[in-house]
Amino acid sequence: MLSLRGVTKAYRGDAAPFALEVPTFDLAAGEALALAGPSGSGKSTLLMMLALAAPPDAGAFTFDGADIALLWRKGRRDALAELRARRIGVVPQTGGLLPYLTVAGNIALTQRIAGREDAARIRALAEDLGIAPQLSKHPAALSVGQRQRVSIARALAHRPALVLADEPTASVHPELADAVLALLKRECAAAGAALLVATHDPDRAAAAGYPILRCTTHAPGADGIARSVFARL
Ligand code: ADP
Ligand code: ADP
Repeated sequence: MLSLRGVTKAYRGDAAPFALEVPTFDLAAGEALALAGPSGSGKSTLLMMLALAAPPDAGAFTFDGADIALLWRKGRRDALAELRARRIGVVPQTGGLLPYLTVAGNIALTQRIAGREDAARIRALAEDLGIAPQLSKHPAALSVGQRQRVSIARALAHRPALVLADEPTASVHPELADAVLALLKRECAAAGAALLVATHDPDRAAAAGYPILRCTTHAPGADGIARSVFARL
């Protein structure tokens, strides 16, 4: 479903040059994985590439049958944006809900953008996630935990093949963090969607049953570039 081979991406600012290297990375439909590494290790950089929002510098990258590296080389931003809208769901760290839409309207957004409206799917997700009574309320009337569950429903409403979450538990208390990780994993598995969660807390992710993809950051070498390598354990 998702496959990276020898993918690299570098930032060449003279302040702190950084390079990310992904020798090999595969994710199958319905599979969940936690991306673990300290702050600055390149987790967001990898998620941005997987969200088709930033191009790799080099390497082979396929997703959902499409040659992503080739689409970037050809400058096919339209095709990349359409693939992103239809096949990818994103759970933000916090917030991200539109205050002037109801909960149902917020969940429906990904469906509208993907051209795939399905009220029954919204209702089913809301019931699974325990937010059905909140569907016609506005985000301001919800607790932090309820809002995060709305974000999960929204990321899954258009039936994406891949769900990406960047530190989805950063702003919630520990008990809620466990629930968010468990719900994400359960809903993605039920939907057959692959799931990648970036976290600085691999122990919590492991306790929630996620296999861990670990990042090793090497101090700058003679070329002054700090390198991070993601590899599956
Ligand atoms: P993480 O998500 O693990 O905290 P990031 O991917 O955000 O890591 O950052 C990895 C490294 O790349 C850091 O050293 C960061 O300062 C640098 N970096 C991130 N984005 C940019 C950018 N747009 N331009 C230059 N450097 C960047
Ligand atoms: P809008 O944002 O278009 O004014 P709503 O926020 O009420 O409308 O609803 C957005 C979408 O969510 C609609 O497509 C609707 O079918 C669906 N929806 C609204 N309320 C519910 C509900 N209680 N259960 C399931 N789906 C709902």
